[in-house]
Amino acid sequence: MSHEPEANSTYRGRYAPSPTGRLHLGNLRTALLAWLHARLSRGRFILRIDDLDTPRNKPGSIEEIIADLHWLGLDWDEGPDIGGANGPYLQSGRLDHYEKFFDQLKTAHLIFSCTCSRKDVQLAQSAPNAGQIEPIYPGTCRPPEGWSQQAAANRTPVSWRFLTRDITITSQAELSEPTTVKLDKTIGDFVVKRKDGLYAYQFATVVDDGLMGITDIVRGSDLSDSMLRQVALFDALGFSRPCFLHAPLMHDSLGGRMAKRDGSDSLEAWKSRDRAPEPLIGELASSCGLMDTAYPISCQELLERLNLEDLLRSMSAARKSAAALNPA
Ligand code: GLU
Ligand code: ZN
Repeated sequence: MSHEPEANSTYRGRYAPSPTGRLHLGNLRTALLAWLHARLSRGRFILRIDDLDTPRNKPGSIEEIIADLHWLGLDWDEGPDIGGANGPYLQSGRLDHYEKFFDQLKTAHLIFSCTCSRKDVQLAQSAPNAGQIEPIYPGTCRPPEGWSQQAAANRTPVSWRFLTRDITITSQAELSEPTTVKLDKTIGDFVVKRKDGLYAYQFATVVDDGLMGITDIVRGSDLSDSMLRQVALFDALGFSRPCFLHAPLMHDSLGGRMAKRDGSDSLEAWKSRDRAPEPLIGELASSCGLMDTAYPISCQELLERLNLEDLLRSMSAARKSAAALNPA
């Protein structure tokens, strides 16, 4: 019997794809899980398009993403196609917000300008740890104690880094034990504004999630390494921390990591074999333990058959089996 939670007016979840190409089946499964989590929590669900990294955007991709999510049967309460009180829902339209919060960090001396090249930072570290998304910053341009932003601004700014000195935070992952980490030692000062002038993903996503009042972030585990940087930024910008839930990534038929390309696993190929979404939803749901065996089902029917505990249990089990297959 499905358990009906109380209507929850505070829950706000989101799906935030980058328009770098067509969604693949793994992206769709993550979107489905984020949607189920929001709907089972009786919360609001927001679609945001992370189109800030303009060199990587593909023309037409935003429209394709929206059409594919609709085809699958997902819906949202705020988004680029329907608007809402917290728009715009394309990051490219939110530069004023990023600028304002960037200035706030600057005034608070929480960021500093850095002239190091990517290569300088890489060379300073002999062996990056497995799974690390960037080498630990060696601290070359870190300002001395008692610095003033004036002095920093006189250097040629190449990129701007968040100063992680003395920051200790507790992991917010819903499915793992809370852990306390020294950010400066494990991650290092990370880039919030790139040398090409673009705001970094870590920074923009936190400004948006903060301003949009996101309480729960459900996304792929390829982003779990970003969580600690983002928690530090939520704190620094004065937003409350959301709950993070990282879903295991789906593998392609050869066991490799899925990419946004056309192939036998692509949505394109799936749609040309089967015009209706129900068989695919059944496959996606059974691939992460939401159904024992795959049979055609709509998103709405799947929602009605599940409760939040089922969803969390199967995501947790899928994470464990993914970890067993890919030990760190
Ligand atoms: N736009 C990011 C991506 O597609 C996801 C952002 C997020 O969920 O935090 O990888
Ligand atoms: Zn530097």
